[in-house]
Amino acid sequence: MLDLSNERTAYDRDHFFHPSTHMGTHARGESPTRVITGGEGVRITDSDGNTHVDAFAGLYCVNAGYGRTEIAEAIGKQAHDLAYYHSYVGHGTDASIELAKMIVDRAPDTMSRVYFGLSGSDANETNIKLIWFYNNARGRPEKKKIISRWRGYHGSGVMTGSLTGLHLFHNAFDLPRAPILHTLAPYYFRREDRSMSEEQFSQHCADALEAMILEEGPETVAAFIGEPLLGTGGIVPPPAGYWPKIQAVLDKYDILLVADEVVTGFGRTGSMFGSEHYGIKPDLITIAKGLTSAYAPLSGSIVSKRMWEGLVEGVDELGAFGHGWTYSAHPICAAAGVANLKLIDDLDLIANVREVGAHFRRALHDALAGHAHVGEVRGEGMIAAVEFVEDKDDRKFFEPGKKIGPQIAAALFERGVIGRAMPEGDILGFAPPFCLTKDDADLIVARTREAVAHVL
Ligand code: PLP
Repeated sequence: MLDLSNERTAYDRDHFFHPSTHMGTHARGESPTRVITGGEGVRITDSDGNTHVDAFAGLYCVNAGYGRTEIAEAIGKQAHDLAYYHSYVGHGTDASIELAKMIVDRAPDTMSRVYFGLSGSDANETNIKLIWFYNNARGRPEKKKIISRWRGYHGSGVMTGSLTGLHLFHNAFDLPRAPILHTLAPYYFRREDRSMSEEQFSQHCADALEAMILEEGPETVAAFIGEPLLGTGGIVPPPAGYWPKIQAVLDKYDILLVADEVVTGFGRTGSMFGSEHYGIKPDLITIAKGLTSAYAPLSGSIVSKRMWEGLVEGVDELGAFGHGWTYSAHPICAAAGVANLKLIDDLDLIANVREVGAHFRRALHDALAGHAHVGEVRGEGMIAAVEFVEDKDDRKFFEPGKKIGPQIAAALFERGVIGRAMPEGDILGFAPPFCLTKDDADLIVARTREAVAHVL
């Protein structure tokens, strides 16, 4: 192996093309290279020996926390016993079969089977193809449009980048616009009519959805996709009554509902699935991140019983489902998933999400809600956000050039805590590992208060 101790920054700048990174500033050395070398519990260590509390669990994915021997050993054993076999034409491995059963056992009881992928993006690509296949199988080839929401995040593939409703992921890529449509984000804090109650605003979102469906023609609209709680778009829990009202519109026009649970799946909201938490009855559930706590890449599309029956009915005419990835249900990743889900049960980590998450969100609220530039402190379970505004009364945005969110995230980093400046607006996000203690929650809040005081 190369000795990187003196060269890592130069090698990184010259050879590593980083995702979601400004190519120019990074290559010129104007933005930092951070090399992470270790992790334990909620803390990570970098190559200079600094330790930080990772209050965003990587990219809200290391839910079980760092340094879990049980998961590492399961990965090692699987690599040793059988590093790979594919899952095409009925093949499987014990790990992938066991994990499929564990997922369906934990999912809402209307769900039936899981199709494995590697990333949240590819799972949503699979969902789109499943939806189209389903409607072809049912003799409805014109029913293909998919409605997503502004501020939704569903990946950065070609179609999933289009589903995503954030400008950063559209700009400069010429992604296909059809057959994807975007409707209102359920973002109560940013509602135009401030006199609306949460219920009225939810009705307003449902009415806008119905108007879009009627304008397009219900016979052309196949599905609606949404995260139970908006994640990358700003960490926004749904307003009261939102999901039942949306579900009623979809049921009326026979439109499938995809719950993108890449962030919320496996406990982040305090329930096993966000769908249960908010009373959603999905036809498809997208899972990734928390499935393995990111110890290995793995995702899935969980298909409902109703949809499965529709798929099977038409399949004799259409032939095999001609869609697959070499690494679908990769046994090493599946072994990581089995060990991770067992650990979450054995340590009752979702109970910790509820208890410590509530403590954390309360403390964050008490420390910051009164600040002159804090518009809202919000969250659910072990996920929270602070939204900063120029003017509290009219919720005025700071000028984008001021980059208040990134500045606060940087000040927080200097104080030993990692939060995430969300891509649109001045929003600081938190999604710590589920094993967070109350002491560490208090530490994150204290450091955040200092960082905010430093910048604002
Ligand atoms: N869906 C949601 C809700 C996500 O938050 C993400 C990633 O953050 C994705 C899909 C895409 O997942 P991946 O980055 O694994 O492709």
